[in-house]
Amino acid sequence: MLHVNMDTAKNKLLEYDAVRMSQERGKTVWKPKPRSYMIGNNVEDIVAQYNTEIRGFYNYSAIANNISSIGGSFGYIMEYSLYKTIAQKLNLTMVQAKLKYLRDKKFVVPFKDTKGSTKYRIFYDGGFKRKTAYRESLVDIIPNTWHAPKLSLMERLKAGVCELCGSSGNIIMHQVRNLRQLKGDTPWNAKMLKHNRKTLAVCESCNHKIQNNEH
Ligand SMILES: [Zn+2]
Repeated sequence: MLHVNMDTAKNKLLEYDAVRMSQERGKTVWKPKPRSYMIGNNVEDIVAQYNTEIRGFYNYSAIANNISSIGGSFGYIMEYSLYKTIAQKLNLTMVQAKLKYLRDKKFVVPFKDTKGSTKYRIFYDGGFKRKTAYRESLVDIIPNTWHAPKLSLMERLKAGVCELCGSSGNIIMHQVRNLRQLKGDTPWNAKMLKHNRKTLAVCESCNHKIQNNEH
């Protein structure tokens, strides 16, 4: 790809609901927007979600010759949308939200992991420099998957992908009361145990299998 289209960036931002387009003196202006549907998540998870999306966009278009300008616009909207989302979550102004986590020009969110130790999630600050070698952009895709945050129930439903068979379509949430009683005796139970999750977003056909215990 030698050129990344402005519309690609715009459509991604609209898909995330991170931007608002307004007309000012005959020109279209992009304005960052808080993503209200995310405010139920932890701040560190919100940052992780933005990081994944920004890295995804950058990896996708890193070898385009205009990536630095388009990536800059995309990154700017995402950055301020993040501040606005966190501001809304914490009931702060945007500037307060930004300053709350600003350390040495980085946006750093401390949090406790499942073992109770303090970790830091840092907002993407890798820039959008063009990558000349295709190889380089491939290498970046690999660690990206490690950062995949836990999606909210709503996002998993909205994603429309069956977590059991991978097909897309109408998704139903399968839920168990608690994991401790579960045995890894079926593919779905095994999956929930593996991910330590009481829910599984499944397609209608997999849901049918679960209800009838066919495996
Ligand atoms: Zn399925």
